[in-house]
This record gives sequence, C-alpha cells and structure tokens, in this order.
Amino acid sequence: MAVTFQLLDELAQTLAAREAEGLLRRRRVVDSPQGPRLAVDGCEQLHFGSNDYLGLANHPRLIAAVKDGADRYGVGTGASHLISGHCAAHEAVERELAEWAAPCAPASALLFSTGYMANLSVVSALVGRDDAVFGDKLNHACLNDAALLSRAEFVRYPHADAAHLERRLQASKARRKLICTDAVFSMDGDLAPLPTLLELADAHGAWLLVDDAHGFGVLGQGRGALAHYGLASERIIYMGTLGKAAGVAGAFVCAHPTVIETLVQTARPYIFTTAAPALLACALRASLAIIRDEPARRTRLAGLIQRWRSVSASLPWRQLPSETAIQPLILGQNAEALRVSQALWERGIWVPAIRPPTVPRGSARLRITLSAAHTDDHIDALAAAIRAIAAE
Ligand code: PMP
Repeated sequence: MAVTFQLLDELAQTLAAREAEGLLRRRRVVDSPQGPRLAVDGCEQLHFGSNDYLGLANHPRLIAAVKDGADRYGVGTGASHLISGHCAAHEAVERELAEWAAPCAPASALLFSTGYMANLSVVSALVGRDDAVFGDKLNHACLNDAALLSRAEFVRYPHADAAHLERRLQASKARRKLICTDAVFSMDGDLAPLPTLLELADAHGAWLLVDDAHGFGVLGQGRGALAHYGLASERIIYMGTLGKAAGVAGAFVCAHPTVIETLVQTARPYIFTTAAPALLACALRASLAIIRDEPARRTRLAGLIQRWRSVSASLPWRQLPSETAIQPLILGQNAEALRVSQALWERGIWVPAIRPPTVPRGSARLRITLSAAHTDDHIDALAAAIRAIAAE
C-alpha cells in the first residue's frame, strides 16, 4: 500500500532499516495447547522456546479449575481490585502465595495481571525523585522501565558485579536506595549473587527487589530463588511471575505487610487496572498445589538440563554457564541466529532467535528453554539437528 503522508513514511523507513539489520520480529501463530509439540503456522514443531518449565500450562487440573472458576465467577471481573473486582479466589491465592514464598515473617502477597506491571508497581511505589535505583545491566526490560517510570536516579551496574555496585552505593547521596535484579537472568540463565546483594542492601540501608520470574516454581523446591539460597529479610521484595513455571498468567509480589499495603494504596499500575479474571486465580490455586506436591517435575527438569549440557558440550557455538532451564547458544550476528533458527524450523524444531534490544548487540542467540514435559529423545533430537546444521 502506498505510504501517503510523512509520519507514516518515517515509520515505514524505520521498519525497513530494522529489517535490513535482521531485527524485524514476526509472530508465528500457535493453534494448539502448550507442550513439546505445537501446531504452529500450519505445521507441527518440536518446541524449545517456552517458559512452561514444569509442563503445567495444559495440565488437566488447571483446565478443570478454570472451568469451575468460570461457572462460579463468569469471565470478567468488571472492575479494578480496589473498586469491586477483588474476588474470593484472588484473596485465597494471595494467602497461599504469602505462605509459600514469604521473604520474611510476617509477609503478605499481592496479585498482578503481569510481571511487567508488578515491577512497575514496586519500583514506582518505593522510590521517587530524590532516590536511586541500582540495576544489573542484564536485568529484564521491565525492571529498567520501572526505574525510568519512578523518576529516581537510575544506576546500571555491570552484570553480577557486586564490587562495582558497592562503590556506586557508597558514593550515592540518594535518600532511599533500591537494588533490583533478575534472580535468574532471562536471556542467559545464570543466577544473580543474591546473598552478596542482600549483604550490600543491609550495609547501605537499601531495599532489594528480586525478580524471580524464572526461578519461582523451579528453584528452592518450588519456593524460588530465596529458598534456593536460604535468604530471608524484611528488605527483600520478592516478585514471582505466574505465566512461566506456574503455567497460568500474572504475577505476585510478596513482602512485609507494610510494603504490600503501600502497594495497594499507592502503586498506580495496580490501582488503575481491571482485576484479572477470577478463573485465572482458580487455575493458580491448582497450579500451586502441583508445584507443592509434585517435586518429581523439578527432578525431571533437572535431569533434562544435565542431559542437554552433556549432549551439547561439543557444539561449535558458545554456551553460557547456566544450570537452569534457560540454555542459550550464542551465535553473535543477527543474520546467523536467524539462519540457524530457520534451518532448525525446516527440520521441525522451533527455537526462537533472540536479538537486540532483548540481548546486547553482537550476542544474538538461540534461547533454548527446557521443560519437564520434554523427553530425553527430544533433547537428543535438538542436539543432533544443531550438529547437522553446523556441519553443513
Ligand atoms: N521479569 C522477567 C525476568 C521476565 O523474564 C519477564 C517475562 N519475560 C517478566 C519480568 C515479565 O513478566 P510477565 O510476562 O508476567 O509480564
């Protein structure tokens, strides 16, 4: 279609430049439930791109809970939590999450529609203009956006560099300080040095926001990264997402009740949005029960991670030292990542190519993610296909 006026023309030029750099994103269309095999763009693909780490996204107990929830509550909640959208199922799952993932005692939990909104809420509620946020350079984009929204000074420290962070904390004149970090880095799979970060938070009187999107349900017997390290503190604001290992959608923040009450009263991304459907809270209760009662899923996932580490050790592309279900293969250039991803697709395997700005320039990668729903054969098939592509 002909571009007819200047503003559209500028957009079209920007899009064309992105395409030339291999940065244009496209959405493939999935037409099946989550699982190792997906119906996508009209064919079936073995899939290694989802964060459904425990294989719960299509679990019959969650589906039954959604149906019961729909019978009881209908679909929409009709209003925000503070107006009239807060249902008994939301209240119940908040109580259960507070017990399961408490970073201190006492603790309360608050549900959010997405992890993105949870992070925007915490950071903008706890810090403002005279304050400072300290964030790891590889933090998820929504923690960075949260820092910008808060209008606090935003200090980004080199990845996992606690010594650098300490210098910046020491030099800071900010009234209030907030350290924020991914617990498991979403594109690299490594763990943040949480014990050291907590020591620094203690020494400098700072809050510590731990974004455990990729650890909740998996690490620490399912309780998450804090339990993995045995950490507890009133300084910690714990954020877990519920669309990944929990297999549903949404997120929660768990912290001292005073922090949670502050979020309820002041966090704009919490206050000014419609409550998520109560049927999702029903699914979350079923999911939490499985996370609690079926440790075999985590054992299975750990076995698959070990298998992948050993069968992929001799691949020609660089791997990162990750012990989690996120197992990236660094290809470097955007075009190379796209080429290998496409070659896998043609062999019936879907591994998305991740490019800037999601990862730093020159570090385009295949972000391979494993799930307890995969089998040993799936892992071996992926390694064989990548090896065959490398040999071409
Ligand atoms: N934090 C991290 C580390 C993430 O990886 C993600 C999702 N990719 C989010 C937050 C956002 O969570 P949600 O998808 O629920 O908005």
